[in-house]
Amino acid sequence: MIQAVRGTRDVLPDEVAVWHRMEAAARGLFARYGYREIRTPVFEETDLFARGIGAETDIVAKEMYTFADRDGGSLTLRPEATAGIVRAVIEHSLLTSDPALKIYSLGPMFRRERPQKGRYRQFHQVDVEAFGFVSPTIDAEVIELALAYLDACGVSEHELVLNSVGDRHCRPAYVQLLREALRDRAPSMCPDCRRRADTNPLRVLDCKVKEDQPTIETLPRITDHLCAGCAAHFAEVCRQLELLGIPYRLDHRLVRGLDYYVRTTFEVTSGRLGAQSSVLGGGRYDGLVKDLGGPDAAGIGFAVGLERLALLVPPREVEGRCDVFLMPLAAAGLDRALRLQRELRQSGLAAMLDPEGRSFKSRMKQADKLGARFVAILGDDEIARGVWTVRDMARSEQQDVPEEGILDHLKEKANA
Ligand code: ATP
Ligand code: MG
Repeated sequence: MIQAVRGTRDVLPDEVAVWHRMEAAARGLFARYGYREIRTPVFEETDLFARGIGAETDIVAKEMYTFADRDGGSLTLRPEATAGIVRAVIEHSLLTSDPALKIYSLGPMFRRERPQKGRYRQFHQVDVEAFGFVSPTIDAEVIELALAYLDACGVSEHELVLNSVGDRHCRPAYVQLLREALRDRAPSMCPDCRRRADTNPLRVLDCKVKEDQPTIETLPRITDHLCAGCAAHFAEVCRQLELLGIPYRLDHRLVRGLDYYVRTTFEVTSGRLGAQSSVLGGGRYDGLVKDLGGPDAAGIGFAVGLERLALLVPPREVEGRCDVFLMPLAAAGLDRALRLQRELRQSGLAAMLDPEGRSFKSRMKQADKLGARFVAILGDDEIARGVWTVRDMARSEQQDVPEEGILDHLKEKANA
């Protein structure tokens, strides 16, 4: 038997209501903040990610699904959304007509990581990006939007973690400091830290290995090395969050895994998720559009992991999937039932019948399972009397309804 590829999962009909809720919440909410949807391809030229995310990042170095196209080009399944969106923004000159561009996207991402709870090789993200805004007000708004989105999905237990990682003026000097501080410390640290100490020292701060924690605490902190511009920008982001009544925790070790981040970085975690506790992450990426060949436009955004969010969305009462279940019991009733089924569906109701002609009992069971609100029965006796028997399932009441009035009767009842 062929099974789903390791690290991928099926969203089954019983779970799909949660997915619809997450998608509908995104569309409804983001529109109110002025964001419009963009849909980009799931694969791109490999170079886009190598240049956009950074060759030394874990994603590019270890996690990409890259394959040779038949003509020899190198393609990659997108591991995240921002690079592709930036490519599209530049390619279609979207910033020319709208220098303050707000867009969002939904869709699958692909990373070859070790699968575990909350970590898959194909997963889904909701992605929000705002281009052309340098003011700290947009940082606060984007963060507020991220939290409002969780709220709209019914998720309230979470923590916002915040940091500033500096910019092109102050970060290089800090990274150099870090590299120097790591020179004698790294040899006693974990293999990942040893590797990152030189190639990507910022990522050492992200290390979760217990034995390394005391060492990491002795490293210089970016917070103490921000330039005046970054420090003022970050202070204003924090002030505006306070103004909006949004609690946060500062964490000088929150650096995020992608090279393109500058200044504000943030993450929202939930204790209910276990080891993979981060439900969304984001930050500012002011140099990225220019790096990828576009205008010098600022950018900020976040990505929510939908598999993780789905674990937090509270289950809702199962909604009935059927307004009217038709039960033609006599062979002569089938044609009438088929026509009525079509008329009910045309008038916007969910109508179903069992074309297999099973027993009355098993059909009643089916009606129950579908959550049918009304069952309309047409047996020999009803045909002889020119009526349908209509059963109101919630009230356990039934009545005769004349054939001529059955459509209007059911419409009226079902829409009441
Ligand atoms: P993590 O620290 O959990 O590896 P990340 O920093 O790699 O996360 P981002 O690249 O910022 O994550 O992606 C944003 C969100 O996408 C994460 O907060 C998470 O909810 C989700 N996500 C990332 N990788 C995966 C994955 N392999 N499977 C499921 N969800 C994922
Ligand atoms: Mg990751």
